[in-house]
Amino acid sequence: SPVFAGKRYAVLGLARSGLATARALIASGASVTAWDLDEAKREALVDEVQALSRSLDSVTLGLADPLVIDLAGYDGIVVSPGVPLNTHPIAARAKAAGVPVIGDIELFAQARASLPEHKVVAITGTNGKSTTTALIHHILQTAGVPTTLGGNIGLPILGQEPLPAGGVYVLELSSFQIDLTFTLDADVAVLTNITPDHLDRYDGFEAYAASKERLFAMQHSGAAVIAIDDDPSLKIAARLSADREPKRKFDPTYEGGEVLAVSQAIGAPKVGPSLAGPHNAQNAVVALAATELLGISRDKIDEALLTYPGLPHRMQRVAEIDGVLYVNDSKATNATSTAPALGAYPRIHWILGGKRKTDDLDACKPFYGHVVSAWTIGEAAELFERILLESGIHARNVGTLNAAVKQAAQIARPGEVVLLSPACASYDQFRDYEARGDAFRAAVSMLGSEA
Ligand code: ADP
Repeated sequence: SPVFAGKRYAVLGLARSGLATARALIASGASVTAWDLDEAKREALVDEVQALSRSLDSVTLGLADPLVIDLAGYDGIVVSPGVPLNTHPIAARAKAAGVPVIGDIELFAQARASLPEHKVVAITGTNGKSTTTALIHHILQTAGVPTTLGGNIGLPILGQEPLPAGGVYVLELSSFQIDLTFTLDADVAVLTNITPDHLDRYDGFEAYAASKERLFAMQHSGAAVIAIDDDPSLKIAARLSADREPKRKFDPTYEGGEVLAVSQAIGAPKVGPSLAGPHNAQNAVVALAATELLGISRDKIDEALLTYPGLPHRMQRVAEIDGVLYVNDSKATNATSTAPALGAYPRIHWILGGKRKTDDLDACKPFYGHVVSAWTIGEAAELFERILLESGIHARNVGTLNAAVKQAAQIARPGEVVLLSPACASYDQFRDYEARGDAFRAAVSMLGSEA
C-alpha cells in the first residue's frame, strides 16, 4: 500500500503475522528494521526479501534488535500481540523515543484508504470471538459478498490479497490486538461478552474491560453490536448509547452510529448443529444483528445459520467408539468457555487442565452434576483434582492427555461423552490449543485401532 512508502518501521517478532507485516511493508516501499530472537526466523525473512528484491527497484531491510538501536525517526514499532507490553522493555523504550507501538491491524487500518471500497466488521469479546467471526464470514459468503477473515483467526491480514470493491473484512480482535490498534474505524464493531481472562497481562479486570471498550472508541460513524448478557458489556452498551446519537433502530438498512444491544435471551433463530447450546445463541444473535446492519437479507442470514459448518477444536465431535462420543473442545482455555461444553451433555468424562488462567473452576460448578469422572492434566492437574474431589467428583490427576484419554475410555459407557475441555491454556504441554486438540484426536484414534 502506498501509504507506507518512505516510512520507517521496526518489526519485532517474525512469526506468522510479523513476517507477513515485514513483507507487506517492504513491498510497499517502507524501510524496515526487523528482529526475532530466533536466528532461523531472521534468515527466513532475509530469504524472502532477496526473492522480493528481484521484482522491486529498491528494498530496504535491516536486521537489528529494537531494544538496542536508536528508535528516533521511526514511524512505529510493530509487535506481535503475544508480546506482553505490561512487562516487555520495548514499551518503555518506545515511549521514551515517542514512537508508537502498534500491531498489524493498525497498519491495516492505515492502509484502508488505498483499498477498494469496502467495510470492516471487528469482533471482540472474552469468548465466542472465533465462532462469531467465522459465522459472520459464513453469512456474508452465503449472501455472495466478497469477504475474508483476519486478525486473531485465519491468515495474517497484511498477507492477504485486497478484496474487490464491495468486500467485507471480518476481523477477530483479542484485547491484546486492540491494545496495538489506534485508528481502526470499524463499520460494525461487535462485543460478545466480557468475563475475567488474561489478568496476568492487565492491571485488573477493569483495565481488561477498558481495553475491549477501546474498539468502540475508535469508531467515527460505525455501528456497535453488544451482547448485554454480562454486567461489564451492559455498562459499555449503556455508555455508548448515552454518547452516541441514535440514528435508527435495528433495521436492515445500515446507517451507522447506532448501538444495538442484543441478548442470548432473545432466543436464537433456527440454527444448525454446529451452533447448538446457549453460548452459541449469543454468538448467533450478535452475528445476525451485525450482518443485518450490513444490509444482508434475513433469508440469507437464516440459511447461513443453518449451514454454518463450525470450527475445529470447538465442541468438535471427533469419533464415536462403542457408543461413546469423543468431543474436542481444546479451544476452551478458561472455565467460562468450558462451562457451556459441560452443559451440553448429561454424562461426561471430563479431561481438563494445562496452564491455568484462574485458581478456580467456579464457572463450571453449575454443571458438576453432569460429570461422571474427571481426569486432570498439566500444570493445573493437582489443583483441579483437589478442587473437584472437594466437590465430590470422582477426579484423578493422570498428568498427560494420552493417559487421560485411555482412562476415560476405559470407564465410559455407551451414551456417555469423553470431553476434552481443558479450562486452561495449552502451552505447558503443547505448542498451542490446536496441537492439543490434534493430540486428543490422535489419542482417540489409537483407541479405535486397539479395539
Ligand atoms: P474465542 O475465539 O473468543 O476464544 P471461540 O468461538 O473459539 O471463542 O470459542 C471458544 C470456546 O468458548 C468454545 O469452545 C465454547 O465452549 C466457548 N464459547 C463460545 N462462545 C461462547 C460465548 N458466547 N459465551 C461463552 N462461552 C462461549
